[in-house]
Amino acid sequence: MSVKIGVLGVQGAVAEHIKTLERNGVEAVNVKRLEDLSDINGLILPGGESTTIGRLIVQGNMKEKIQELAKNGMPVFGTCAGMVLLSEKIEGGEPAHLGLLNATVNRNGFGRQVHSFEKELNIEGIAEGFNGVFIRAPYISEVGPSVKVLETIDEKVVAVEQDNILAVSFHPELTRDDRIINYFINKCK
Ligand code: GLN
Repeated sequence: MSVKIGVLGVQGAVAEHIKTLERNGVEAVNVKRLEDLSDINGLILPGGESTTIGRLIVQGNMKEKIQELAKNGMPVFGTCAGMVLLSEKIEGGEPAHLGLLNATVNRNGFGRQVHSFEKELNIEGIAEGFNGVFIRAPYISEVGPSVKVLETIDEKVVAVEQDNILAVSFHPELTRDDRIINYFINKCK
């Protein structure tokens, strides 16, 4: 079955995700407006600036549609800022964006730019020895019962799955290791 996956294209690391999907044989849709959400089998929320992306989702009238699609089971994959967008709670009292992931996120949990780093990760059931590229990365500090924790760094949760929702703190699209994206592509089939 051919799969069509949308990449929310309002801001952030959009082109890298599109390239990764295409080299794995998937048709990628650059989602810039509401209509672009109508014919996809999955959606990627890229890294970038969660506040900006969140505002543009609302301005573009896409918030309710994304929530509806996800609640009806469409797979959604959030990377970095995408993890922030998905979470039900943001530490520090900032209002949540999509609220689809039963978790609390710490937005710049690993610190700002100077704290960008790479680390070898074991993403449970998906990829052992995966090079995680972290850039002003968030982490999850609390998860609800339906959320499966897939990897942590010093008790900071950096990869989770809750049914059709997958979220990671780092940037798999900046590496040539396609194991995580292929796991997500298979969820979309
Ligand atoms: N910490 C940033 C935010 O909350 C995300 C950084 C990133 O996506 N590289 O928006």
